[in-house]
Amino acid sequence: MPHDDHDHPHSLLPSDPALRVKALETILVAKGLVDPAAMAVILETYETKVGPHLGARVVARAWADPRFRALLLKNANAAMAELGVTGRQGEHVVAVENTPGTHNMVVCTLCSCYPWPLLGIPPAWYKSDAYRARAVREPRKVLAEFGVTLPEGQKVRVWDSTAEVRYLVVPMRPEGTEGMDEAALATLVTRDSMIGTGLPLAP
Ligand code: FE
Repeated sequence: MPHDDHDHPHSLLPSDPALRVKALETILVAKGLVDPAAMAVILETYETKVGPHLGARVVARAWADPRFRALLLKNANAAMAELGVTGRQGEHVVAVENTPGTHNMVVCTLCSCYPWPLLGIPPAWYKSDAYRARAVREPRKVLAEFGVTLPEGQKVRVWDSTAEVRYLVVPMRPEGTEGMDEAALATLVTRDSMIGTGLPLAP
């Protein structure tokens, strides 16, 4: 019997996870464990103030300043702090640098760990089962689907985030950017290039 023969009141309801989140929120607020105003400030912060433009500043500085680059690779949090980039989900950041020999790519196979202070809230695909499973099994195929084809000789190294450690990919500085200042360089650094599923824009 065709499934759409009868009315489907269930389909008018939000999805199951959305309902559960709403139920949980209602209880937490009712019990006074969560202040809706405080929650609004956090959401607003990550929607409008924190985002990939902060990670882009860090990468651009690393491209422009060898001292900063060395510090970033040795102690990412110290380097980030110089630019005022700090915050939750970014307490232990490790920066991994792309080279002609190695392309780095980040995943969280367990859930969706992500360096919020640098990149904001993760995109939906980063949290998907498909990405989490396939990024480790067939990274080149996943990269191809993102439109990234790497040279044969460049190996792919996949970093699996943990509850503690978050990774930042430092892409290679594009050719033809010699005369550009840091602000201009930052405009070339995309979110995906800092996850490793993309490359920086050409100038
Ligand atoms: Fe996770």
